[in-house]
Amino acid sequence: MIVVMNQNATKEQIINVEQKLIKLGFSTHPIYGEVKTVIGAIGDKRLLNTQEITAMPGVENLVPIMKPYKLASRELIQKSTIVEVDDVKIGGEEIVVIAGPCAIENEDNFLDTAIKVKEAGARILRGGAFKPRTSPYSFQGLEEEGLKIMAAARKVTGLKIVTEVLDTRDVETVASYVDIIQIGARNMQNFKLLQEAGSTGKPILLKRGLAATIEEWLMAAEYILSSGDSNVILCERGIRTYETATRNTIDMSAIPVVKELSHLPIIVDPSHAAGTWKYVAPLSKGAIATGADGLIIEVHSDPSCAMCDGPQSLKPDKFTQLMKELSLVAHAVGREI
Ligand code: PEP
Ligand code: MN
Repeated sequence: MIVVMNQNATKEQIINVEQKLIKLGFSTHPIYGEVKTVIGAIGDKRLLNTQEITAMPGVENLVPIMKPYKLASRELIQKSTIVEVDDVKIGGEEIVVIAGPCAIENEDNFLDTAIKVKEAGARILRGGAFKPRTSPYSFQGLEEEGLKIMAAARKVTGLKIVTEVLDTRDVETVASYVDIIQIGARNMQNFKLLQEAGSTGKPILLKRGLAATIEEWLMAAEYILSSGDSNVILCERGIRTYETATRNTIDMSAIPVVKELSHLPIIVDPSHAAGTWKYVAPLSKGAIATGADGLIIEVHSDPSCAMCDGPQSLKPDKFTQLMKELSLVAHAVGREI
């Protein structure tokens, strides 16, 4: 629920209400607006006699949060969240593009791609060190060796880095190397992993599950937010439908729907949605036109030799060309790249 404090509520009254709520077993999230302060109170409503709160000095009224997700909802936080990774701001005016290969394969190759995507205008470098492969016989990633290569590429290019973590046992190690932790589609409802990742306080890139509804996805975000981490970036990456012409079906409607339901930024992964490099450019343009805050795009210097997801990876020159075209779309919708 939301405790709305009246316009003239004093700091002391706000603190008193918070303390009372904490005593009743709620976690509190005060939001100091220009005119009024509201306090988000998350916990078991059954423990509450609402009059105990409404009678307190400075309280105007109590408003229930109707959605099952609370901290992720726009009912509680109206202002859009901007996730800041130093100077890179996701959810603001700039469309942030993340690019790089599906998997980190070796240092030379990765660095070469990193330099090229940086020159093209990407702000964050992607690369998998722990890969969630459908087959146990496929390349599983370089693990910590891959993280070291990523960190070296960050040093050379100045790009921020993001990689996926698959297992709670690796969260600490991954967090010690990267700027953003990715939770992949297959793990969207791995609740222990969400909590463990959230407890690092690092920004979390949360992919939508293979067949997850928007509500299930926002509930997954709620796990991270309720672990004390307010920096969640949602990522639409296509969902499983009856259609087989593309690897997944991109859900463009998710962009405006999520914007309405949640204050969290949302980016789009056209590569895993399409499964084919040819569709990456049109889907990227569509995502920006629909209001996405960024994109995550697979780029490989030689897709025909890629150890993972070559068919959907753009060559660096195609990525460079796409970035130029995306800049026009971004301007058309009042954004920057
Ligand atoms: C990835 O980004 O490399 C990946 C495996 O994505 P997803 O979890 O969306 O399939
Ligand atoms: Mn991939």
